[in-house]
Amino acid sequence: MNKADSKGLGESLGKLGYEQTEVAEEADVIVLNSCVVRQSAEERVINKLNSLKSLKRKRPHLLIVLTGCMVDGNQDGLKARFPHVDLFLRPQAWAPLLGSAKAGVPGGQSSIPPAPAISTLVNIIQGCDNFCSYCIVPYRRGREQSRPMDEVVCEVQSLVQRGAREVTLLGQNVNSYGHDLPTKADLADLLQELNQVDGLARIRFLTNHPKDLSPKLIRAIARWDKVCEHISLPVQAGSDEMLNAMRRGYTVELYRALVDRIRSQIPEVALSTDIIVGFPAETEGQFQQTLELLGDIQFDTIHVAAYSERPGTIAARLLKDDVPLHEKRRRLKEVEKLQRSIAAEINSRLLGHNVEVLVEGEKKGKWYGRTMTGKLVFFPNGADCLGRLVPIQIERTSPWSLQGSLDNQ
Ligand code: SF4
Repeated sequence: MNKADSKGLGESLGKLGYEQTEVAEEADVIVLNSCVVRQSAEERVINKLNSLKSLKRKRPHLLIVLTGCMVDGNQDGLKARFPHVDLFLRPQAWAPLLGSAKAGVPGGQSSIPPAPAISTLVNIIQGCDNFCSYCIVPYRRGREQSRPMDEVVCEVQSLVQRGAREVTLLGQNVNSYGHDLPTKADLADLLQELNQVDGLARIRFLTNHPKDLSPKLIRAIARWDKVCEHISLPVQAGSDEMLNAMRRGYTVELYRALVDRIRSQIPEVALSTDIIVGFPAETEGQFQQTLELLGDIQFDTIHVAAYSERPGTIAARLLKDDVPLHEKRRRLKEVEKLQRSIAAEINSRLLGHNVEVLVEGEKKGKWYGRTMTGKLVFFPNGADCLGRLVPIQIERTSPWSLQGSLDNQ
C-alpha cells in the first residue's frame, strides 16, 4: 500500500516538474512514507528521520515531509520530536505538499507522463473497517473507501498505454471493494471489467480477508483468463482461541473449508498467508496448532511476524504482551524452517515443466519475471524479453525462486 501511495505521490510531483533522485543531498523535497505496522518498521522511520537532521541544517530550503501511518490526527508530539520536519501529512492527504511543491518548482508543469513499470500497483480501496485487535491500520488509514470502478478502469487503461502489462489491485481488505459505492459493484465485477482491457496481460489483487472472500469472487478468479491464480489469504494463527483474541472473524474450520472450496475450483492456485507468532497468551500448544495448519494446507509462501504491541490498538489496551522475546523468536524461526521445506517441495514439482513468465526486468545479467501463480523465475539474458510473456523450461528450483531457460519449442 505504501509503495502504491509513494508511486502516486511521485507521479503527482512529476507532473509539477520534479524529477526523482536517489541521492538525498541532491533533493529539494524528501518524503518519508512511514509504516508503523510493527515496532521494527517504526524504528527504521525514526532512525531515518534523525539522520536527516544534519542535511536540513546544511540546506535549510530542503522540504522534509513525513506521511503514512506514523502520522495521526494529533501531530503535536511528532512536531516536538522532529522539529526539522516541515510537513506532517496523514496517509494520502498530500494537498499541502503539492501546494508547497508547486510554489517551489523552478520549471513548472511537465507534460511528459512517466513510463510505469511492467508490473504496477493500483489502489482500489483505502482503509479498513475490521479492527483486528493487534492492528493499527484502521486508526491511521480510516474507514473503507472504494474508488469508483470507472476511475480504476481508466487508470489501468492509462497505465497499459504507458507500458504496464500487469496490475496488482490493492486494499487492506480488497474483498470489501465496492460495498460503499452507489452501484455496489464488487471485486468480481471489477476483475471482469479489467479482464477486457486490451494490452493488459495479468491482474493480481491483495490482501484478501478470509471472512469476505465470496463464492462469486472465487468463480471470477477461476473464469477470467488474466486474473492470476494466486490468492493471498492471511490466516494469522492456527488456534480458534488466538483467532478470537485477534478478532479475525473466522474459525480454523471455516478457513480450512474456504481453502478446500478454492482448491476445488482453481486446482492450480498458489496460496500465500500471513502468520503472527507470540500473540498475547499464546501457549506452546496453540503455537503447535499453527504449525499443524501450515503443514496441512501447504502454502506456497508465508510472511511471518513476531507480535509487536502497537499503542492504541485493542490488544495493547486489553492484553498483556507476555510471550518473551526469545520465545517469539524461536517460534518465528520454527515457522520459517517448516515453510522452507514446504516451499522447496512445492517448487520442486515444477522441475522440467514449462511455465509462462511475464518478464519484469533484468538483474545481474538475467531476466526475471513471475508465473501466473506468482513464482519468481530467472533465466539467462538473450533476446529482448521485457514485458513479454515467454515460455520457460524450469531447470533448478529453490524455496524462493526458480531458474530456467527460454523454451524455443
Ligand atoms: S483486516 Fe485486520 S489486519 Fe488487515 S488492515 Fe484491517 S484491521 Fe488490520
